[in-house]
Amino acid sequence: MFDITGQKRWGIIGDGQLARMLALDAYALGLRPVVLTGDSSSPAGQVSPLVVRGHVDSREDLHALLSQVDGAIIESEFVDCDALEATGLAEKVYPRTSAIRILQNKFEQKKLLESLGVKSSSFYPLDKKNMEGAVASLTHNFTKPIVLKFATFGYDGKGVLVLRGSGQRDQDLAGDFLLTATKRRIDVYAEDFVGFDRELAMIAVRGRDGTIKTWPLVITEQKSGVCERVTGPAVSLGIKKEIETEAQIACEKIGAHLGLVGVFAVEFFLTSSGDLVVNEIAPRVHNSGHFSQNAGCVSQFENHWRAVLGLSLGRTDTAPFFMMQNLLGPAEVTSKDCAQAPRGAESMHVHWYGKRGISPGRKLGHLNAVSHSVDNRGDLISAVQSAYGRWQEEQRQMFLNAQNAQKGPS
Ligand code: ADP
Repeated sequence: MFDITGQKRWGIIGDGQLARMLALDAYALGLRPVVLTGDSSSPAGQVSPLVVRGHVDSREDLHALLSQVDGAIIESEFVDCDALEATGLAEKVYPRTSAIRILQNKFEQKKLLESLGVKSSSFYPLDKKNMEGAVASLTHNFTKPIVLKFATFGYDGKGVLVLRGSGQRDQDLAGDFLLTATKRRIDVYAEDFVGFDRELAMIAVRGRDGTIKTWPLVITEQKSGVCERVTGPAVSLGIKKEIETEAQIACEKIGAHLGLVGVFAVEFFLTSSGDLVVNEIAPRVHNSGHFSQNAGCVSQFENHWRAVLGLSLGRTDTAPFFMMQNLLGPAEVTSKDCAQAPRGAESMHVHWYGKRGISPGRKLGHLNAVSHSVDNRGDLISAVQSAYGRWQEEQRQMFLNAQNAQKGPS
């Protein structure tokens, strides 16, 4: 399906920052992205003149989108697969709903990994009718910490609770967690806590013909469950090559088994005893792959399009050192309008999401930086860290000024 410019139309189901960066790279390939959104000033709505107004969970709205495009991609795995299939047009969507259904549920992911022989932490279902009782019996005679997780709809550490064996406090925390899950009709399961030295991630892209390419393994750093920084290639930063190879094999097994087409991400723990353990899989472009926009390779966004269009996949080898710093809203700054892209970040690339409003930990953009020698990384890391610190301080200052202006002269 072509629009008046003669360009092919492809749909994007979602309107956040991932959808925005996918839309921007779609233009570069000569596509016309059509975004499904209820808000044309959303991050993706702003950069995409063609929108279908609606909601990603509505069968009618999904039908309206899918009936006017050649194909479509998802921004988040938390799409309503029943609604998608009810449109009768789900075969236009990448990845397939059969794969999305498994990967949108962390408990199903665990079963998949077990069946593929890919290492992940041991996991336990909780009796839905008596979740509190099930947690109590898991934490009774506590020998090691356990983790409770929402099976669906968890993101940025929301939907994860680590119980460390502190008796009544654990029971109280678990009680609140289970109540939230029950209200939202989310299943909860438990998994063993992994004592890890590092968190790692790998993004992969798989073409329609089954060809798969992986970007280098990277080191991810989280703050309160939110990814703050990514550096790589991990192998240049002290991680053994065999670990990267293991990660590649895991990606290949997962991608081939599910018949994934497009980019997907696998997050790992590297345990203190040197084992690589999968934490979770995301069937889409991912925060841990944003470095690819400026690391001398073809970006995850462009490669995602190339894969679903059936084009040859772009190269995934990178510069000797790269870094991605998320621009997270600073502590105690909450405002409907106070946020500005960083200025003066000369040695780095700025990617701003155009979100309305700022709140602590909210992802508002990111900085990418690359170095042509891994030995020079110290200066680059300091430059990025100080640009981030300055930016957070500016946001804090703007917030305080806006608050003072509201109060008026005393
Ligand atoms: P989300 O989907 O919200 O990102 P994750 O499952 O990735 O949730 O968990 C968020 C963070 O919680 C992880 O990055 C890790 O730091 C910690 N975590 C999650 N599962 C475990 C586990 N089994 N053992 C130790 N830490 C964990």
